[in-house]
Amino acid sequence: MANIRLIKLAHVPPNNNWNPMTFPSSICVYCGSAADVAQSYKDAAALLGRLAGEQGVEIIYGGGRVGLMGLVADAALAAGGKVTGIIPRHIVEMEVAHRTLTELIVVESMHERKKMMADRADAFAILPGGLGTLDEAFEILTWKQLGLHDKPIVIANIEDYWAPLLTLVRRGVSEGFVRPRHAGLFTTVTEIEALLPALTTAMQGVDVVSSFT
Ligand code: AMP
Repeated sequence: MANIRLIKLAHVPPNNNWNPMTFPSSICVYCGSAADVAQSYKDAAALLGRLAGEQGVEIIYGGGRVGLMGLVADAALAAGGKVTGIIPRHIVEMEVAHRTLTELIVVESMHERKKMMADRADAFAILPGGLGTLDEAFEILTWKQLGLHDKPIVIANIEDYWAPLLTLVRRGVSEGFVRPRHAGLFTTVTEIEALLPALTTAMQGVDVVSSFT
């Protein structure tokens, strides 16, 4: 029984209810929870939060108040934006839940968290982060590869942080492990200012010439 429930929670239904729009009303942000990182990463996180808040784009994220996660949330709130955090009960304390969000949703498992974050967002932004961010990034990429959703994904390659990952994907294509078209499941930007415009372009169905390809 327990296994069946887990599988159901992890399953993202086909994206039939998603209405194509030309501008995201919400973005799911995946980024690091570590606090002791270079200022340039912190600035990038805060800038994304501010721009989203100013432009009325809701932030959906993991609900913590630490690291880049907290900076995105605080900046969006300070700019008058809406921020929804989704956090599993067992890591509420560990991750230092943000207590002044527009909404903090406490769920029972990581699977439920990831599914709810994905369902609620119109698009995804991947900022620098650690293993948790990598897991979330690859999950949302592979869900798209499997046709479980068709929402835009942008990787914010701040300070070229994601270069090794992009190199690995390229290697996967050249070695035949990654289908060439799957390397186009995401776009990359090198500046935060380009992130929301890149998502908008993707939502308008315009072919984006990614800096990656
Ligand atoms: P990190 O990038 O490791 O700092 O983690 C960023 C976010 O990913 C945090 O909200 C973590 O709760 C989440 N996270 C950490 N480990 C995992 C994991 N194994 N699977 C999915 N998410 C995780």
